[in-house]
Order: sequence, then C-alpha cells, then structure tokens
Amino acid sequence: MNDSRMLISRQALLHNVQVMRRVLASGTKICAMVKADAYGHGAEIVADTLANFALDDAEAPAVDMLAVATIDEAADLPLDCARDVLPILILRPVENVFVSRNRDALEHAIRNGWALTVITASAAEDVARVAMSCGKRAVIHVMIDTGLVRCGAAIEALDGLLRKIDSLNALKLAGLATHFANADSPGDLFTDEQLERFLAATDEYVAAHPGRILRHAANSGAIFFAPDSHLDVVRPGISLYGIDPTGRANLNRALKPVMKWVAPLLVIRDVSRGTSVGYSQTWTAERDTRVGLVPIGYADGYARAGANRAVMMLNDLPHRVVGRVSMDYTMIDLGPVCPATVGDEVTVLDSDPLSPASVYELARHAGTIPYEIFTRIGGRVRRVGVEPSDLPVPTQLAEP
Ligand SMILES: *Cc1c(COP(=O)(O)O)cnc(C)c1O
Repeated sequence: MNDSRMLISRQALLHNVQVMRRVLASGTKICAMVKADAYGHGAEIVADTLANFALDDAEAPAVDMLAVATIDEAADLPLDCARDVLPILILRPVENVFVSRNRDALEHAIRNGWALTVITASAAEDVARVAMSCGKRAVIHVMIDTGLVRCGAAIEALDGLLRKIDSLNALKLAGLATHFANADSPGDLFTDEQLERFLAATDEYVAAHPGRILRHAANSGAIFFAPDSHLDVVRPGISLYGIDPTGRANLNRALKPVMKWVAPLLVIRDVSRGTSVGYSQTWTAERDTRVGLVPIGYADGYARAGANRAVMMLNDLPHRVVGRVSMDYTMIDLGPVCPATVGDEVTVLDSDPLSPASVYELARHAGTIPYEIFTRIGGRVRRVGVEPSDLPVPTQLAEP
C-alpha cells in the first residue's frame, strides 16, 4: 500500500459531542458543521457517524442537525443516512437565484426540504417564487450581522426583511442566527456585545411567534467561553473534530482529535555527512544518517512551511522533515540507527494533542490555524472510518 490515509475515529467524534453536551442545557440542540468536507475529515464518514452511531447509553443520531456551506455540499452527503435522518441547513446565503445553474440547485434544495439561509428581501422573494413552482414551502433561516461584517442582514434592515418573509406563504421561517467575530478568545467583550445586539433585534419577533423560531449563534469558541450565547441551537465545527477553539491544546476540555494522517515509508536512503537533500539544497546532513521518503507533499495539503521544522512520528518518536516539502514527497531524517524499514507507518499528523506532530504544531510552523491545515488536505488522502466495532451496533442495523 503506497497511499496515505486519514484515519477518522468515530469514537472520538462521538466523544467530542458528549464533551459539548456536558456544557449545554438539556434542551439545547447541536447543529454539527460538516461544511468543507467536514473540515477535511470526509463528510461522508462524519455525517454517517453523527446520524447512525451512538456511544454508551446515548441514542443515535448524536446531533440534531447538520450544516454545510453550499447546496452542492448538501447533495454530496450520504443519501441513506444523514439526509433522511437529520435536518440540513445550508449556510451560504441564497443570492442570484436566476443566474446559470443556481435555480436548479435551489429547486433541488427545496424539494429535499433543506433549510436555506436568506439575508435580503429580494432573495426571500426569489426563494418563494421557486418554492411555489415546486409546490413546496421552503424552510429558511435568516443570518443577522451583529458585528462580524461578513454575510448577514443588517440589523436596520431586519424588520423590513421579516415583514417581507411573513408576507410570503411559500416561506417557513424556522431560524434566526448570528455569528461571532471573537468567540475564540475567552471573556471577549465584543462577543457579549454581539449577543446583546442579536437578542435585542430578535426578542420581539420570537415572542410573537412562540415555539416557531430557533435562535442560534454559538460556534465552538462560544460553546465553551460564552454560555449565555447557547440559545436554542449551537453550531460547533472545530471542536467536533477535537481541536481546541483557542488553537492550542487544552486538556481541561477533554476534546479528542478525530483524525490521524498516516503514510507508509516508501524508500529509505543512506545519506553521508555533507550530502544535501531536496530542492534548492536547503538541508545538508551533519552526520551520516538515513533519510526516509514519505509519499505525501504539498499537493496533499502538507504545509510547505513545515520544511526543516515540522516533524512526523515513527514508532512514537519524532523525526524532522528535512529539505523542502515537494508536491508529492516529503523527506524525514530517520537518524543513523533507526530500525525503520520500508512500509513502516509514519504518522504525518498525530491524533495526540500533545504530540510534536499534532495539527497545532504544524499550524504553528505554517503560521496558520488548524482549520486551514485540515481543509487543505487533498483528495489523494483516503478518508477511512475506524473503530466501528467498539461502538453499539448502528441503530439501522439493530433490527434482526
Ligand atoms: C464554520 C461556522 C461555524 C463553526 O465554527 P467553529 O469555530 O469551527 O466552531 C459556525 N457558524 C458558522 C456560520 C460558520 O460558518
């Protein structure tokens, strides 16, 4: 086997859901973020796990909703589980409905009952028109900008937008949402300010429509650092995948990284002292050593900035990346006496949060955040779900 694989621990994923449940009030729903191919982890495995597996006494599904960025991403979720078991929310606001294939995609979403995000009155009208043509009501959520200034309806425009939505029978408004700018820093006052703006803008409407509107705001950071913001639904992304929202391993929160990226040692070379390795000769052996070739490179999303700094693990020991990271290959210094043989499994990214090959460390070397490292991991890396046997039988298979 010459390919690299990303091992996805279903157990860790479900464990992270439980860690979050412990800080949520009992009625609070979880909308799991599986956008961007589940933060690079493979939306198929992740959605299947969240829809069909459970830990201990819990019952599947482990979460209450799934969210993706685009209609195409929703269409790619596994039909048999996620789509039929869990409601799906599409976060990217509907715009330009009648441009090219947008209309077909929108029809597809409405026919499947996926909830759409709307931030303008014109989009509300367009969605209503398409919904009527399908003979369906479209479920929508409104994203409100309270300070991120990305994509959301301005608070000043909200009353008009809600009146427009109420006038359109083909729309069913199910949620009001906002998104925080600084939720990853504990105690940040701007988060409180955004929450206050959000509540002030929506309290009256929610009170006038009892039991109909789900309000949601909290991403991973806010789940742990801004408990007042939990409201009806929380929207965890990075913490679902076991990464601390601060970007640094924090063992108090007991999150378990879900993925481990492994690759086989493809070639081992003896390299004598003074020999340079890789493009542009950026590394020269200072002693006789052995260099291992790992068949992953920046085309697979391994950060080029890891050259001569990042490490990979072999038999639980760190080995430094030497020379440039190239498109398809990376070299590591095995040292003169390493007992490694060709085919041994190298851990490219480790699931132990304290490992020197953790995603936190690679992100630090690359001057970025774990989110970016994850979402850049390429299509050549096969995503493989592991440990299903440690879990209760999926509910669907429990029948004789
Ligand atoms: C991606 C995203 C989230 C999840 O954020 P994390 O920091 O990964 O928990 C929540 N809400 C919205 C609107 C998002 O786009």
